[in-house]
Amino acid sequence: MTNTIGHWIDGAHRASRSGRTAPVYNPATGAQSAELSLADAAEIEEALASAQRGFEVWSRLSMAKRQTVMFAFRELLNARKKELAAIITAEHGKVLSDAMGEILRGQEVVELATGFPHLIKGAFSENASTGIDVYSIKQPLGVVGIISPFNFPAMVPMWFFPVAIAAGNSVVLKPSEKDPSAALWMAELWKEAGLPDGVFTVLQGDKEAVDGLLTDPRVQSISFVGSTPIAQYIYETASKHGKRVQALGGAKNHMLVLPDADLDLVADQAVNAGYGAAGERCMAVSVVLAVEPVADELIAKISERIANLRIGNGAGVDGVEPDMGPLITAQHRDKVAGYVDIAEADGAKIVVDGRDFRVDGHEDGFFFGPTLIDELPTTSRAYQEEIFGPVLQVIRVESFQEGVDLINSGQFGNGTAIFTNDGGAARRFQHEIQVGMIGINVPIPVPVAYHSFGGWKASLFGDAKAYGVHGFDFFTREKAITSRWLDPATHGGINLGFPQN
Ligand code: NAD
Repeated sequence: MTNTIGHWIDGAHRASRSGRTAPVYNPATGAQSAELSLADAAEIEEALASAQRGFEVWSRLSMAKRQTVMFAFRELLNARKKELAAIITAEHGKVLSDAMGEILRGQEVVELATGFPHLIKGAFSENASTGIDVYSIKQPLGVVGIISPFNFPAMVPMWFFPVAIAAGNSVVLKPSEKDPSAALWMAELWKEAGLPDGVFTVLQGDKEAVDGLLTDPRVQSISFVGSTPIAQYIYETASKHGKRVQALGGAKNHMLVLPDADLDLVADQAVNAGYGAAGERCMAVSVVLAVEPVADELIAKISERIANLRIGNGAGVDGVEPDMGPLITAQHRDKVAGYVDIAEADGAKIVVDGRDFRVDGHEDGFFFGPTLIDELPTTSRAYQEEIFGPVLQVIRVESFQEGVDLINSGQFGNGTAIFTNDGGAARRFQHEIQVGMIGINVPIPVPVAYHSFGGWKASLFGDAKAYGVHGFDFFTREKAITSRWLDPATHGGINLGFPQN
């Protein structure tokens, strides 16, 4: 210990003088790896002033020049992504191949954004009325704020900033306090790619920095991803201050398994989607809804697979990578354990119990073993709330409809999946389910970059999803222009009536 992590302002690292800090850990060892500076009012002001200047420069550059920078960023990211993966694993804990997976899903959005001229071009209607043309243009908003969660320190910011920057905005990114270094690495990459100073700013901090972004009149929009209570706060506060807001919240994703499904395929996918990244994914499957009579067989198959999972330091030991790493902090591990305690107290059967899990040689790491729960009453808080850990719950239902009704009764609507060979049932599921992203025999249906990502209900506040066409609409403002070039033949003289066709 310990280096101090600061901001990225005006195209350079910027040490903080706020005197307020938060610890950053390596979750696999439990050791503190750094001290993070938390921005104060002066640093927030400095970041926003620089971002405003950056916007004035960047938004005036031609699309061709902006596109050159986008392509350069993509090339650098593609060439050097291993460095970023190592940073993610060291602060988040996820295994290296999973860190690489998150980068690739972010890189997809960078690649989409390189084609931005096509996505921000307006429309033209010639001769809408005699001698009159109507057309639209899309312009950047200005300084935009991004506030990201700990669980995808590279991908979630990349859901937004490639689109925002390509469209001509400047970005102030406030990363999670728990894994702040990925953002700084990406800032250095932007600099190398030729982005003008002030167009990409990293403001490290906590609620004070967030509130600065939510209330400052220079910030035109807020893109937030995190837990539902904070998403709601962000949505309400930023809206009250006149900003566009997209605030993505928490989740409780169900996988509905019909009796005709291939149970070996289902068990593999439930384990991958339930325990990958130690369950710290907003699209993780946390509930397997088994339409009877398959629950007992499925539980046996999932248990067998859990017994073979390797849990350890995500960076690997002697070149061998485990399947699953630790949780983000000791407090979060205790919270996850608390939910398993609640489930047990409410009458559930803990089929596989990860509460006392230890990894040899990493006794102080924040590990929690894969956990499988059966017979959990749906009235339990352990069922109704998001746990965000490697805890799979099997809930037994008697019919397709009972499963659909249970999913639709929940507060969240982020992702869901159905496993079946019955096309009619799958089609009915996609029509009736009140969830934003649906997998048909696909457990984690994160849409590709040219579609858009976002849930329903308490999983998304606001009406714009991330990336894709939604992203470009969110980060631009449209103007509609009605134009007539006067000539004596068509000019109608004085007429105070409302313009008509
Ligand atoms: P979090 O809500 O604790 O933090 C998210 C961000 O908000 C961080 O940058 C944090 O500094 C800031 N923040 C925290 N408390 C705040 C407060 N009181 N006022 C202002 N800002 C505050 O979330 P997290 O623990 O970092 O991430 C996990 C959560 O994110 C889970 O609920 C997960 O489902 C959700 N998530 C959702 C999606 C999605 O697409 N819907 C994607 C990833 C993560």
